[in-house]
Amino acid sequence: MKSFTYERASTPAEAASAAARNTGTRFIAGGTNLLDLMKLEIETPRHLIDVNSLALDTIEPLPDGGLRIGALVRNTDLAADARIRRDYGVLSRALLAGASGQLRNKATTAGNLLQRTRCPYFYDTNQPCNKRQPGSGCSALGGFSRSLAIVGASDACIATHPSDMAVAMRVLDAQVETVRPDGTTRRLPIAQFYRAPGDTPQLETALAPGELITAVTLPKPVGGMHVYRKVRDRASYAFALISVGAIVQRDGSGRVALGGVAHKPWRIEAAEAQLPKGARAVTERLLANAKTTDDNAFKLPLVERTLAAVLVEARA
Ligand SMILES: Cc1cc2nc3c(=O)[nH]c(=O)nc-3n(C[C@H](O)[C@H](O)[C@H](O)COP(=O)(O)OP(=O)(O)OC[C@H]3O[C@@H](n4cnc5c(N)ncnc54)[C@H](O)[C@@H]3O)c2cc1C
Ligand code: SF4
Repeated sequence: MKSFTYERASTPAEAASAAARNTGTRFIAGGTNLLDLMKLEIETPRHLIDVNSLALDTIEPLPDGGLRIGALVRNTDLAADARIRRDYGVLSRALLAGASGQLRNKATTAGNLLQRTRCPYFYDTNQPCNKRQPGSGCSALGGFSRSLAIVGASDACIATHPSDMAVAMRVLDAQVETVRPDGTTRRLPIAQFYRAPGDTPQLETALAPGELITAVTLPKPVGGMHVYRKVRDRASYAFALISVGAIVQRDGSGRVALGGVAHKPWRIEAAEAQLPKGARAVTERLLANAKTTDDNAFKLPLVERTLAAVLVEARA
């Protein structure tokens, strides 16, 4: 691990402005992703700002009936919150499908959204990877791509986003609240938060350098049956090959987002009009521009079958 300097932030605005003052800064929350990447020298920050003492660890009701989840709320606490379990079940289920109990005790809401890809070549510093080292090439193209993207990728990168929680946040139309280095705040819809890989796969979100996530807000509950189903190589402690997060209403309408298929949680609202026609119609629209490899073509039928199972579960 490369040496680095360290400080504890006292307020969110101070954390953001300190990050802008020191080049090569990273915020550290639970550290469950960042520290692994630092040990492998994939991330080599020169300065760490510990945000754990900021008072961003509460879940508060909003006047419009929604909830405001502090950036430091741990995944375990969020999944167990009675309001989340009752009104936002897809989020609680997605969180519990991720990682392990010990990791969820440390992992935070903001850190989960910002975790990096699990593409095997991103972790292998002997191999070219445009995301790790821009311009070096993509080893996954023509390489081992079983777990990688089938839609929304580019010629520069076919990585997937690994977060289960982010899929649920996309279904729920969450918004990400931030503070920028100049002290101004903003709120980004989750649909605009993640970037497509394009020619710059190293840039994964709309966050500016030094911008700190302070909270994630959920709109008022929409009711319906909430389901999150994750398909993976073993029953626990594994990332999704594909996942389906869905909210289905009594009249057959609903929302669907996919994990494990793209650089970001994958949702196309227009596809949801096909829900009354069944899983095939929705999948055809959701994955209309899919581009698969020999290794990952299995994901196309897997999405359709998993969505079919989710719809049966929801309607039952
Ligand atoms: C073995 C293993 C298995 C896992 N399995 C799964 C799984 O199945 N599903 C899944 O979804 N996840 C899984 N994870 C990932 C885990 O969920 C993430 O590591 C965790 O959510 C990251 O949160 P953290 O608080 O520890 O982030 P950190 O490691 O502290 O930070 C991650 C990134 O977020 C940035 N950051 C943190 N807080 C802020 C903030 N407030 N504002 C701006 N930037 C910030 C950091 O600078 C860093 O770049 C697994 C991890 C491990 C190690
Ligand atoms: S798919 Fe993306 S993360 Fe994986 S090797 Fe290619 S550029 Fe790197």
